[in-house]
Amino acid sequence: METNVIEQVFGKDVFNDEVMQAKLPKDVYKSWKKTLESGEDLDADIANVVAHAMKEWALDHGATHYTHWFQPMTGVTAEKHDSFLSPATKSKPVLEFSGKELIKGEPDASSFPSGGLRATFEARGYTAWDCTSPAFLQEDAAGVTLCIPTAFCSYTGEALDKKTPLLRSMEAISKQAVRIMKLFGYDDVKKVSCSVGPEQEYFLVDRDKYLQRRDLIFSGRTLFGAAAPKGQELDDHYFGAIKERIAAFMKDLNQELWKLGILSKTQHNEVAPAQHEMAPIFSTANIATDHNQLVMEVMKKVAKRHNMECLLHEKPFAGVNGSGKHNNWSIVTDTGINLMDPGKKPHENTKFLLFLAAVIRAVDEHAELLRLSASSPGNDHRLGANEAPPAIISIFLGEQLEDIIEQIIRGDVSSSIQGSKLDTGVHVLPVLKKDATDRNRTSPFAFTGNKFEFRMLGSSMSISGPNFTLNTMVADVLQDFADELEAADDFDSAVNDLIKRTVTEHQRVIFNGDGYSDDWVTEAEKRGLPNVKSFVEAIPYLTADKTVAMFERQNVLTKTELESRVEINYEIYSKTINIEAKTMIDMAGKQYIPAIIKYVTNLADSINSVKSACPSADISVQTELLTKCSSLLASAQKALANLEKITEQAASKEEGQEQAEFFKDEVFTAMNALRAPIDELEMIVDQSFWPVPTYGDLLFEV
Ligand code: ADP
Ligand code: MG
Repeated sequence: METNVIEQVFGKDVFNDEVMQAKLPKDVYKSWKKTLESGEDLDADIANVVAHAMKEWALDHGATHYTHWFQPMTGVTAEKHDSFLSPATKSKPVLEFSGKELIKGEPDASSFPSGGLRATFEARGYTAWDCTSPAFLQEDAAGVTLCIPTAFCSYTGEALDKKTPLLRSMEAISKQAVRIMKLFGYDDVKKVSCSVGPEQEYFLVDRDKYLQRRDLIFSGRTLFGAAAPKGQELDDHYFGAIKERIAAFMKDLNQELWKLGILSKTQHNEVAPAQHEMAPIFSTANIATDHNQLVMEVMKKVAKRHNMECLLHEKPFAGVNGSGKHNNWSIVTDTGINLMDPGKKPHENTKFLLFLAAVIRAVDEHAELLRLSASSPGNDHRLGANEAPPAIISIFLGEQLEDIIEQIIRGDVSSSIQGSKLDTGVHVLPVLKKDATDRNRTSPFAFTGNKFEFRMLGSSMSISGPNFTLNTMVADVLQDFADELEAADDFDSAVNDLIKRTVTEHQRVIFNGDGYSDDWVTEAEKRGLPNVKSFVEAIPYLTADKTVAMFERQNVLTKTELESRVEINYEIYSKTINIEAKTMIDMAGKQYIPAIIKYVTNLADSINSVKSACPSADISVQTELLTKCSSLLASAQKALANLEKITEQAASKEEGQEQAEFFKDEVFTAMNALRAPIDELEMIVDQSFWPVPTYGDLLFEV
């Protein structure tokens, strides 16, 4: 029998556990595993043997180069390739790769965003092997390259990337959760890890059309464009039948992901036309983060093969749903207990209720920070708009848990609402067991059975930030809990008291209703929940006193590192809007306005011709159109001049908060003022004059 394609290709390009077991001497493999499990320092001799085996395996698979693959603050991955060629090469090439080369790299740190941590003259930066995430092969026109997942730090040890704080946060939450587990008598638990499953949304558009849109090329989103006659109003795209061309892409994508050991599991059409989603099976947070970066890169690469472009921007099209990422998160012990699993009778599951209380308190206490962790210039178009979770952080627990929380607060916990049977009224259909709780799509932070689903993330963002923030917040509360409970004389009453006190104090963050409604905004304000409207307004929370204290207590980020991240965030925002503004200026000046002038001239010529051919003919339609177009053209020209002026002013503002705020309040407004008349013109100008593909072309002709 032929083997299934998944079995054939899965993990083919990964130096995974199976390969290591086969290639490493037994004792080396054993101590290697021990290092992984205990999280202890890696022995240099072991590293040498692993490096050798890794090199042999990579060479067998055709690799010529290796790279330390890392995740600087740009949000995309970086790599610098070295060939295996040894400097000692004489007549015959010698291919070498030592333990030292495996564990440490030295890319120039000054050309990556460092928020002032590295000046141009202080260039040294190091990459350090993250041995808990497997090495893999990547093939492109340059050949096959061995990619080694690494963390990136400065000469002075500060984190310059997205990976380092994530790894630190995983240690932090593990340490505190183990303390709690000990108190419950689970002495066998040595480590707790975070599981993450990110659902990735994306758009696919035809590449020939994409290449005609400079806005898509430079900024990833359309900066102009009138709505197509059809949008998503019929709800006919969500879960709809997948078109052949898209299906071929998905097939190809799955195979590429499986080769990399990525557990690509589900695929479907999303709400908006041309929008789709892929979800992998969850894995450990750092691996899930590496994999999600790869997913985004592979999506882009495979799309090109099918002459399509994959758009990962949070809002590629105005008026059409944007893309997000649902970050499913739970914590699991090394003995296999999911601490977010309520079990059959959650009201009796004190351990679960304590961890649940910790999450509730963490989210309530650091809501602004969590909001920031999911913010980006692109995601500003979604959060708070009518399609994505609101910018207000609240927790959805569902009927069953909310009922238990109310019982706890009242002081008599006695029951858990149970799921019933679902009767469809049709005999040939099986009777289904219903979950104890329905779902709520409008909540930014929803409990979904045995995990939390953080739904605010933008589609193009690294999932590292939200996860290290979440881990650290929860670790910090757990530390507090452990301190209190370890000191208690009577554990049982202390723990019950702690749970009751915590959920009573933080009940305000629990909300089971419609998160998209205006009533909720008012209600949330009454409850005192923060409503941070934009990315720029959220940035200062990164260096709020309580944030710094928490990150330093958990050894995840220092004040200096946080300050550098504040700078980087402002810089990213200003630069993004600046690129968008300049792209609009370019397109309006070189494409739209000349095209409209041509059309208007053409219209005027035709009026003159008609007039001279037949002086009595009714030319009111042409005249009216000419008047309207000319007036909109004048508005567009005025708005363009204004945008040019404002963008220039922005450049002279002091970098940082002041400049970012100027971009948000002034430049962004001027951009919208230019877009409005051009979009209106798009609806009336003869199609053959229009210089770029329209929304209809992009969204429906894939
Ligand atoms: P949805 O109904 O939200 O679209 P899916 O089942 O498609 O849900 O995706 C849910 C995601 O959550 C998947 O990536 C899945 O692997 C992940 N997931 C499931 N259980 C856990 C868990 N315990 N911890 C983290 N992620 C999980
Ligand atoms: Mg989901």
